Amino acid sequence: LSKIKINEIFVSIQGEGLNIGLLSIFVRFSGCNLKCNYCDTEHHDGDAMEVDDIIKKIKEYKIEEVCITGGEPLIQLEGLKELINKLKALNYTITLETNGTIYDQIFNHVDLVSFDVKMPSSGVKSDLDIIDKLDPNITQLKFVIGNLTNDYEDAKKIINDYITSKNLKFPIIFMPVSEGKKEYTKNDIDLFRNLTIKVLDEKLNVRVLPQLHKILVIK
Ligand code: SF4
Repeated sequence: LSKIKINEIFVSIQGEGLNIGLLSIFVRFSGCNLKCNYCDTEHHDGDAMEVDDIIKKIKEYKIEEVCITGGEPLIQLEGLKELINKLKALNYTITLETNGTIYDQIFNHVDLVSFDVKMPSSGVKSDLDIIDKLDPNITQLKFVIGNLTNDYEDAKKIINDYITSKNLKFPIIFMPVSEGKKEYTKNDIDLFRNLTIKVLDEKLNVRVLPQLHKILVIK
């Protein structure tokens, strides 16, 4: 039996990606192996919880959708595997958010993997060779775009080199970075608009999506 260091467990709507708007239980693991420039997670050391106690708390909410996020959940792999296997046995639908640096077979046991592809403005790098191992049917690739120059061009190059040229059909999300940690600023909305306009102009086959919770200003 494993313990997991948990930052927080709460209910909200999914603010990002293909499941945007979906009522979900968020299980935020503590700790991350990266330090992105724009990180908006309030990192806490977190309490170590038994997986069964986490599941007991999840059951109390009476919601079928669980989003496992961080930090980086994959750095507590043993606990993560136990949690996912037990939740699947209970028929929960699981989204797993990960920063694109670690691969594990456990990706095949969830309903949606949200895999970050880090851009230059983040100051860190994902492991792009992992993309080949991911299943396009259950994975969204998320690019957090900080500017319409370096980041945008880098994203296009990665899409070409690692996805389109290999005829892989991943859903691709472009999400504008936000300077507002909890609420979009005017600059954030401008970047969202300008990114959308550029994608339209160039007819890129990607979805430009905001962080809905920062528009609604909810957790
Ligand atoms: S990977 Fe995510 S949690 Fe980790 S530092 Fe980057 S933004 Fe923060």
